[in-house]
Order: sequence, then structure tokens, then C-alpha cells
Amino acid sequence: MKAVVIHAAKDLRVEEREVETVSAGQVEIAIEAGGICGSDLHYYNHGGFGTVRVREPMILGHEVAGTVKALGTGVSHLAVGDRVAVSPSRPCNACEYCLRGEQNHCLNMRFYGSAMPMPHIQGAFRQRLVAEAWQCHKVANGVSINEAAMAEPFAVTLHAVNRAGPLLGKRVLVTGCGPIGALAIIAARAHGAREVVATDVMDTVLGKALEIGADRVINVANNPEELSTYSANKGYFDVQFEASGNERAVRSGLEVLRPRSTLVQLGLGGDVSIPQNMVVAKEIEMKGTFRFHEEFGLAVDLINQRRVDLKPLLTGTYPIEDAVRAFEAAGDRTKSMKVQLAF
Ligand SMILES: [Zn+2]
Ligand SMILES: [Zn+2]
Repeated sequence: MKAVVIHAAKDLRVEEREVETVSAGQVEIAIEAGGICGSDLHYYNHGGFGTVRVREPMILGHEVAGTVKALGTGVSHLAVGDRVAVSPSRPCNACEYCLRGEQNHCLNMRFYGSAMPMPHIQGAFRQRLVAEAWQCHKVANGVSINEAAMAEPFAVTLHAVNRAGPLLGKRVLVTGCGPIGALAIIAARAHGAREVVATDVMDTVLGKALEIGADRVINVANNPEELSTYSANKGYFDVQFEASGNERAVRSGLEVLRPRSTLVQLGLGGDVSIPQNMVVAKEIEMKGTFRFHEEFGLAVDLINQRRVDLKPLLTGTYPIEDAVRAFEAAGDRTKSMKVQLAF
């Protein structure tokens, strides 16, 4: 089988790999769609992020869906031919965090395509994947395999919503409208947000944000004063989903958040400086959000039931042989939202 392997920054190769054998409780899946994520792009463009570096060849990818081709013994809820979305979250279910139901903090997490541990955890951009049956969630008839492969980034934003707390009737600000910001808009809408305002520095992605459910969009590069008007009377928004990782987005968010509101940080921008006095005086809660676990099943259900429409986010599909072209396209925000590989 072919697999998409990162060796170092800008050194991405399509290589042959052996298909793994199926053990009890596992299934073999023909992967059909795989979405390129921001983390995959970090490995491709920079060889890693923060202190995490690619130190050995690693198959990339964790946003995948495909068709079951073979079953191990003891698998009862799946059949050959079923189409499935595969959760890349593989906690140990035995460490102290797993036992507290905080699997996304598992001490022995084996999340696909991660260079954090050594040896690295090999990813899912491959033609055949052997996964545990419990990772697989059936995709409903009529739902495309491309939509199913967006369950993972959608689950990220559903976890962010869980971190934010109830959104019913709340006014929500989303800063940064890449795939995660856009999915946060959809997740907030699905949870009853009263109003969603989205910001970015590019009109193309803001157009997409409007299309998928934002009430208003603001280009903060061209018109920062439009956002500032929300700072009157100590602020306006109950919740901010910060998906840009940009310091200015955090700072401007703190200005327009109301007292006792919540800022949920999704974007990874590194070290930023913030006006502490504003956090204190307005009693703002700042929360991080990291991956997901049980939200993956909810993401698949919401997609299956047509409660959300993620199709507008898919901006391109490339054959596996064109992986480099696909990664270049995915990194170009002027043209791309979510880019997927076909296997
Ligand atoms: Zn992802
Ligand atoms: Zn664990």
C-alpha cells in the first residue's frame, strides 16, 4: 500500500508500506478520504511545532474515513462494506486521566500522526489502516466519505464548545476563520448560540464564514474599528472561540468580551502578551481546549443526521500521488479551506 510519509520540513514522500495484520477486535479499512490538518501542515512546513520535531520518518494524517474490508474476531457492530469515520484518539484507558474520563490528557496517548513520543505514532494517510473497532463510527447512507473525514476537526470544536459551557442564547465571537474557526461557528450554531460574529484578515474565508452561519463578519485587517464598537459598556460577547493563535485576536477579544465571559483558546500561537488588568477587572475566564475524545461520536452523529452541513468547507481533493501539491494547496489560505487526499 501507499502511505504519505514526512521525513523533514518540505520533505514529504509517497512510499510503499506493508499492510498490517488484523487482530482480534480490529478491522482493516480501505482509507478513502483524509483531511490535511494544521498540525500536518506544521510538520510539512516546519518539521514540527513548538518543541515537537520529526525525528524519524512518520506517516502523517489523522482525519480519515473509509470502507471496512476485513474484520478481526469478536467484532460484532461492524460488517465488511460498512463506511466508517475513524477516531484518531487512542488513549490507554488505564492512566489516571483516562480513569477520570479525561482521555484527551492520556499519559500514553497514541494519537495518529504525532511526533510527540519516540518512536513516533504513525498516522492514517495510507491506503489500508488497521484500527480498533471501537475507533470506527458508521457513516450513514447519503453522507459522502469526504464529509465523514471532517468528523475529527469538527470534534475538536465540539470539545471547545464543551469547554465553553452552555451556548444557548449566548453571543459568540469567533476569531480566525480557517477550518477550525469555521467549524466552531457551525458547532456554536448547533448549540443554540443567539448571535455569531466572526473575524479574520481575509475576505475569502469571511465569505465562507457567512455562508456557513455567521451573522456578521469583520475583516480586522481592513476595519478593526468595526470590532471595537463592541467594547462599549464593558463589552458584548459571552464567549470567544479564539482560533487564530494571533496575539491581536486575543487582545481585541478581551476588549469586547463582557464581564464574567469566557475565552476559549483553540489556536496555537506560542507566547503572547495579554492585558492582565482586563482579565482581572472583567473576571474573564480563559480556557484552553485540546483535541477531544467522546465528542468524536457526537460529531459523526450530527453529520449523519444532517444536523450540520460541513460540505461547504471542502475546497479540494487530490489523489495520494499528488500529496505534495495537496499540502501546498492546503497551506494557501487565499485558495483553500479544507483540502483532502483521495486514496
Ligand atoms: Zn485535525
Ligand atoms: Zn491513558
